[in-house]
Amino acid sequence: MTLANPLYDRLIAPLDGRASDFLILPDGSTLSGDAFHRLAAQQAGALAEAGLRPGDRLAVQVGKSPEALALYAACVMSGVVFLPLNTGYKADELEYFISDSAASAVICDPADADIVRGIAGSARVLTLDGAGQGTLSDAAAAQPERFAPLERSGDDLAALLYTSGTTGRSKGAMLSQSNLLSNALTLVEEWRFTADDVLLHALPIFHTHGLFVASNVMLAAGGAMIFLPKFDVETVLRFLPRATSMMGVPTFYTRLLDDPRFERGLCRDMRLFTSGSAPLLAETHRAFEARTGHRILERYGMTETNMNTSNPYDGERRAGTVGYPLPGVELKITDAETGATLPDGEAGIIEVRGPNVFQGYWQMPEKTRAELRDDGFFITGDIGVIDPDGYVQIVGRAKDLIISGGYNIYPKEVELVLDDQPAVLESAVIGVPHPDFGEGVVGVLVAEPGTTPDLTAIQAAVGEKLAKFKHPKRLEVVSELPRNTMGKVQKNMLRDRFAEVFKGKG
Ligand code: ATP
Ligand code: MG
Repeated sequence: MTLANPLYDRLIAPLDGRASDFLILPDGSTLSGDAFHRLAAQQAGALAEAGLRPGDRLAVQVGKSPEALALYAACVMSGVVFLPLNTGYKADELEYFISDSAASAVICDPADADIVRGIAGSARVLTLDGAGQGTLSDAAAAQPERFAPLERSGDDLAALLYTSGTTGRSKGAMLSQSNLLSNALTLVEEWRFTADDVLLHALPIFHTHGLFVASNVMLAAGGAMIFLPKFDVETVLRFLPRATSMMGVPTFYTRLLDDPRFERGLCRDMRLFTSGSAPLLAETHRAFEARTGHRILERYGMTETNMNTSNPYDGERRAGTVGYPLPGVELKITDAETGATLPDGEAGIIEVRGPNVFQGYWQMPEKTRAELRDDGFFITGDIGVIDPDGYVQIVGRAKDLIISGGYNIYPKEVELVLDDQPAVLESAVIGVPHPDFGEGVVGVLVAEPGTTPDLTAIQAAVGEKLAKFKHPKRLEVVSELPRNTMGKVQKNMLRDRFAEVFKGKG
C-alpha cells in the first residue's frame, strides 16, 4: 500500500479514536490519544486558515506543553515544515533563525509577543495561548475536530531543525518525512517499545532528542508519555514509579544520583534508561548501576541524522561507548585529510549513511556539498574509533582536536586522566594559541564541592600517565563548565576565555 502521508499515517493517525492515555501531565491529569488528535487537527485547520501552505516554515518558540507537541502533529497533517526553537534563545538569536529560515509565521509565548513582533520581519506572529484575542489556540478552538491530512511523500520536508550551536553558529538541518519515520520505526524495534510503555519524558521538544527520538518513538509504539515541562528532580522522583522507561542526557542521571531519595524501589517498573546528546561518564554508569541495578543504555545521535548508534538492548551495554550502528545505518571511520577508510582501532572522522541522514543544510549548498558526500555518507565532524568488538567510541569533535607542536591531541584522553584526580569533579581540555607550539593545551578543572585541587600533584599524576606533548601546559580552576541546555560543554566559550594565557610565552 502506498501511504498518502507516511509520517501522519504511521505516527499520528493511530491516535485518532484512541481512548487510552497518550500524555500524563505533572498535575496528574491526562490527555487521551483521541483528544490529542483532535487538538492537532484543529490546529492544522487554524494554520491553514492563517495562510500556511505545504512547505512553508512555521517557527515555534513556546514552552513544552501538549499544545506545543500538537503543533508538530498539526504540521505533519498540513505539510507545513515544523521549526522548533530553543526557548532560551534571545531576540537577536531568534531574529537570525526567523530570517535564515524565511519562516512564514512564528508562534511564541504571550510574554514574548512584543519582542518577537519587533524582529519577525514579514513573518506573521501568533501566540499559542494567553488572554485576549487572536491566539492560535482561539483560532483552533473554532475549527472542526477533523482535518484531512495533505498528501506528502517520504521525500518531502517534515522539519527544519537547527543544530545546538555547540561548535559555531547553528545550521538548519532539512529532515524529510522518511528521515524521521525510518529512525522512529528502527528504535521501536531496537529498544522493544510497545503500547504498554510509559516513557518519562523530561527532555525539551525543540531538540532532536526530545522530539524525534523520544516523542516519535512513543508515537510509533503507541505508548504513553509522562510529559514534564523540564527535568526537575522532585517531579521526576514522584513519577518514576509510574514509568517503564526514561530517555535522558547525562546531567539527568548525575542529578538523580545526587539525591539520596533516588533508589531502586522507585524504578521497579522501569525496563530502560537511555542516555545521549553528550558523553556519559563511566563513573555515572557505574554509580547508576550500583544504586538501581540498571545499566544505562548509551546511544549517539545528532540533529542531522537523528540516531546513528545504540548499545544493545540485550547483550553488553559497554560503558564509554555508544554501541553499534543501528540497523540500516552504515558507519565508517575515515582519515580527516584523505577521506580514506581507517581500520578498526584507529581514531578518525565518523561518517554515516542511511535513511536517517538529512537532506542537507538549509540555504548552505557549499557546506552541504562538503559534508554530505555524493555517495551518501555524511561527515559528522565527530571523531571516533571502533573497538575490536564493533562498539563505537566517541573520542571528541574534530573542531576540538588540539594540534600542539605538530602532534594531534584528543582532549578526551587528557580529560579522563584529569577527571580521575582527587578533588576534581570534572574537566575540559582545550587548545588555545601558543607562540611556540601553535596551540597549547589548557586543562580547565572544576573542583569537588568544598575542596581545592592540588595542581602540582595533578601535573605530576598526568606526567605518569600521558606522553609529554599531551600534558596541559596550564591548569585553570573554574566554578563550573559552560553548558548549553542539552548539557553539552561549550568549549568555544572556554577557548575565548583562556585565549591569551600563553601570550608572550614564546
Ligand atoms: P553544532 O553542530 O551546532 O555545533 P551540536 O553538534 O552540539 O551543535 P546536536 O546536533 O544537538 O548539535 O548534537 C550532536 C552532537 O552531540 C554529536 O555530533 C556529538 O558530538 C554529540 N553527542 C551526541 N550523543 C553523544 C554521546 N552519546 N556521546 C558523546 N557525544 C554525543
Ligand atoms: Mg553538530
